Amino acid sequence: MSVSYPVQNKEMKKGKILINGKWRQGNCDLISIDPATGETIGKVSMSGKKDVVDAVKAARQASISWHSIDISQRSEFLKKAINVIHERSDKLKELIVRELGKPYPEASVEVDESADMLAFFAEEGKNFLESEYIPINRSLFPNKVSYTRFEPIGVVAVIKPWNYPFELPIWSIGAALITGNTVVFKPSELAPFVGLEIGTIFQEAGLPEGVLNVITGDGKTGEYLVDSNVDMVAFTGSIETGKRISRYCADKGCRVSLELGGKDPAIVCEDADIGQAVNGLTWGSFANCGQVCVSAERIYVHQNIAEEFIARFVEKASTLKLGNGLDPSVDIGPLVSQKQLDKVETHVKDAIAKRAKILTGGQRPTDESLKRGFYFLPTVLSEVNNDMKVMTEETFGPIAPIMTFSTDDEAIRLANQTSYGLGASIWTTNLRKANYISEMVQAGMVWVNDINIAYPQCPWGGVKKSGHGKELSKYGIREFLNIKHINVDFGEQETRDWWFPYKR
Ligand code: NAD
Repeated sequence: MSVSYPVQNKEMKKGKILINGKWRQGNCDLISIDPATGETIGKVSMSGKKDVVDAVKAARQASISWHSIDISQRSEFLKKAINVIHERSDKLKELIVRELGKPYPEASVEVDESADMLAFFAEEGKNFLESEYIPINRSLFPNKVSYTRFEPIGVVAVIKPWNYPFELPIWSIGAALITGNTVVFKPSELAPFVGLEIGTIFQEAGLPEGVLNVITGDGKTGEYLVDSNVDMVAFTGSIETGKRISRYCADKGCRVSLELGGKDPAIVCEDADIGQAVNGLTWGSFANCGQVCVSAERIYVHQNIAEEFIARFVEKASTLKLGNGLDPSVDIGPLVSQKQLDKVETHVKDAIAKRAKILTGGQRPTDESLKRGFYFLPTVLSEVNNDMKVMTEETFGPIAPIMTFSTDDEAIRLANQTSYGLGASIWTTNLRKANYISEMVQAGMVWVNDINIAYPQCPWGGVKKSGHGKELSKYGIREFLNIKHINVDFGEQETRDWWFPYKR
């Protein structure tokens, strides 16, 4: 992959929030920090209740006209936004690296992939909005016709995490807009400037006032938004926050889609291509410093290939280079925050206390140049078990715990011993085995001989505690629609067999 690296732009930023097409200067109480250096990138508003109410009001006002225009016009706005993404691409990629710390090639893929996702919504969205005729039993109901209409839900609150600060919001915002909804978007407090860029992009694309509003803030701002007059919450984030939002929405009768955390198993079968599994799983464990909801968080390797797999995996992990994501030689950046670093250290210490063996890493790097960032070495652990946090709770860091198994059914049992159910990967050269394990693993997504790829045409989402609802694909688009069933009786009789009186 060839990527060009920008010169680092270090001007201090002051972010404004976007409400009803106008940029509003807020209190600048929220500071965005570069996790590679600890430096302040800039300050944005910690939006309060009034900002939230104003944003939702603007979205509500814009709702009727946005819903009423033809979908081809909505599609044109999305296509214009894609052009703006391409125009602003270099700046955007640099900003993602600065707020998140991820290496530039990963930021680059994130931006390019997001444009691809928007293109899918713009081009294919209309196919999933057309009314569908429903055949019903003709002998029982000879004069009846049924069909569906897909209608927008109204005002959607889009609340997103920081790990893919551009792409994940685009998935929901793109689907919400093409289906005729208006949006109030709250980016993560750890990546507010990337979130505000999304507002700028759609504004430059000429989106009508109020159709997309962007407010920055932390969980409290998120709470105000969930508690406001919105019709749906499209949430991606932790299970804890998802549960809280779900309870709130249940009380209000508000629609909610939840894309939550994972503890994905990777099953490396006896017949796997070991080189491919090693390469795939080092990337699958350590890309974005392990801060990927579908990272390989538990690796199960067949005992007959474990020695070779582990030796090659450890060798590869220990050669990955840590550093600032704007440095072209870097493979892994810092964790996003001190809080995330603390969590990773806690999980590793817990594992060590319970007799896990560190095969590489296990600590913060000692290089002086990395002291100021939230770095942790890529870590491989063996002799782990289900009493350890690294095997039972989402770590969201550069930690790869490895266990062995002796039969495929044992691997399936171990993989399913969790309340999470987001993704899973299976590494095998046997297609029949791939099919069997894919069916048996409790997950919303299974990759065979690969990991962590999203396609706009394919559904994304988890089962069990990892959430419900789908993103992307026709299923993801339909999450943002109410399905109305219309049933017409064109018979001319004065009565029906099932009307009163019952005694004939
Ligand atoms: P988080 O739950 O702490 O925060 C997510 C968002 O919710 C942020 O914008 C935050 O400000 C907001 N928020 C926090 N408390 C809130 C409340 N009470 N009401 C409303 N909003 C509130 O999660 P995070 O640390 O930002 O993200 C990491 C998590 O996201 C991980 O668990 C990861 O697995 C998950 N994730 C899941 C997917 C997926 O597709 N399933 C994708 C990416 C990340």
